[in-house]
Amino acid sequence: MKGLVYHGPGSKSWDEVPDPGIVDPTDIVVQVDTATICGTDLHILKGDVPAVTEGRLLGHEAVGTVVAVGSAVESLSEGDRVIVPAITSCGRCTHCKRGMPSHCLAVGGIGWIFGHLIDGTQAEYVRVPYAETSVHRVPQGVTDQQVLFLTDILPTGFEVGVRNGGVSPGDTVAVVGAGPVGLAAIMTAGLHGAGTVIAVDPAKSRLTHASAFGATTTVEAGEGAEEAIMDMTDGRGVDVAIEAVGVPETFDTCTRIVAPGGTVANIGVHGAPTTLHLEELWIKNITITTGLVDGVTVPMLLNLVQQGRLEAEKFGTHHFGLGEIEQAYDVFADAGTHDALKVVLTR
Ligand SMILES: [Zn+2]
Ligand SMILES: [Zn+2]
Repeated sequence: MKGLVYHGPGSKSWDEVPDPGIVDPTDIVVQVDTATICGTDLHILKGDVPAVTEGRLLGHEAVGTVVAVGSAVESLSEGDRVIVPAITSCGRCTHCKRGMPSHCLAVGGIGWIFGHLIDGTQAEYVRVPYAETSVHRVPQGVTDQQVLFLTDILPTGFEVGVRNGGVSPGDTVAVVGAGPVGLAAIMTAGLHGAGTVIAVDPAKSRLTHASAFGATTTVEAGEGAEEAIMDMTDGRGVDVAIEAVGVPETFDTCTRIVAPGGTVANIGVHGAPTTLHLEELWIKNITITTGLVDGVTVPMLLNLVQQGRLEAEKFGTHHFGLGEIEQAYDVFADAGTHDALKVVLTR
């Protein structure tokens, strides 16, 4: 088969590689029908994730068809359409049982293993460990593109942003960073009854997307942005500030615009230390949350997609064949120029 091989920082190619097969009895093998590229893949290519070694097939988001089933797998059969999510979970360890498969102990303490610790989904076929407790069946009448973004960005925006942030009915929520994950938080903030959703980003095109994804107000990041947000809230600040960039400046912004008693929910993948200004924050009664997605809300989000209540397919702005993945990477890495949100790669 063909797969996208990581050859070390800055280097990747769509190569002929061995077909995956069943290794453990709880495995399945999935033929990838639709896949996408994540910001995390770009981090890996920059060399930011040293656990990813040369020769690894990248990717952790796919929808596909089961083509082989391990001997212990009872509830999945060849031909089933499944969502292969970013997080693999054994369903049995302490962390899985407490609803935190992001730290599944059976796969090494971090549930994100595809395209990280084992070969990933940017390939024609992928071996999926702990299949029964990890994958979700695609319901009838739902397209691949409608469920593709449930593999990572939608549950990430919802669980790590909206839910960790404790968004409650009527809340004023600021989402700092309107890239795909920020947009996912914007799109799902309404599920918890957010009253006002303020999108903050330096790019006008992203703010236009933010409005289409449910932001009620947009603020251009930069000088005066924090003041504008304080003015909008009568000097009080926002109930929940969601950080969806992953750099010190945007994290600081969140800690300055959050109201006393509010929450800063960090989603951003930080590659550098950030100073926590406790000398100002200790008195503010705020909560700061962080996390990796668990994916435990995927069945709920899937239900909303099926009912036509969540237009998840809107993230897919650019389409390519799976074999055109290198071109797709170029577009995704230069998303601003192409006004791209997520790419959709189809077999
Ligand atoms: Zn991802
Ligand atoms: Zn587990």
